[in-house]
Amino acid sequence: MTARPAAHEGGPARHARFLIVGPQGSGKGTQGVVVAKAFGVPQVATGDIFRENVSGGTDLGKRVQAIIEAGDLVPDELTSELVRDRLSQPDAEYGFLLDGYPRNRGQVADLDGFLISRGEQLDAVIELAVPRAESIARLTQRAIEQGRTDDTEEVISNRLAIYERETAPILDDYRARGLVARIDGVGTLAEVTDRIFSSLAVRGLVPAHPGAA
Ligand code: ADP
Repeated sequence: MTARPAAHEGGPARHARFLIVGPQGSGKGTQGVVVAKAFGVPQVATGDIFRENVSGGTDLGKRVQAIIEAGDLVPDELTSELVRDRLSQPDAEYGFLLDGYPRNRGQVADLDGFLISRGEQLDAVIELAVPRAESIARLTQRAIEQGRTDDTEEVISNRLAIYERETAPILDDYRARGLVARIDGVGTLAEVTDRIFSSLAVRGLVPAHPGAA
């Protein structure tokens, strides 16, 4: 295998392993797609994969449907296995952008174990920070536009509570590892995208195909 320069050695990143973390309604799905495309890596959103399985009526979909509709977390074992399978696909060899995973400390440990077994490590954790009121306003709007079954007021507040209790703490762990790029998520889509790329560039993470952004 040819040696590849690490991302911090300058020039376009040879690999890009990112997480994007933020509360519901932070815009991480939209921003994640843009970042993944620019770096030429697959965007892997666990929520999307679960929803596809529910609408496709697969065994997995049947197992997770009630959990998702209540806004609870799918068990770690099932979620982590799904992610390991996805990240083992050839298109994720040089990187990925994970959206919605890991979501608690157990999943962080699972992802660490998987990456260590492959001799890989994360390049950055993109934190999209938005105030709670903004997050709720955006979700309410999305509920009207998309009609997602888990976008009712009661389920939204459950998902936000789980985010604050279980997901926000993982950012402290990644911050301690020096991996977190904290981005102000309030602004236009383009403004937020610019902030993300600037913050990644400061870390030496430059897309090989910036035109794709
Ligand atoms: P949101 O972030 O807006 O809640 P997602 O699309 O990321 O939406 O997730 C939708 C649902 O899928 C979650 O409420 C949860 O039930 C399930 N899910 C997604 N990712 C995970 C995960 N990493 N661990 C457990 N459950 C998950």
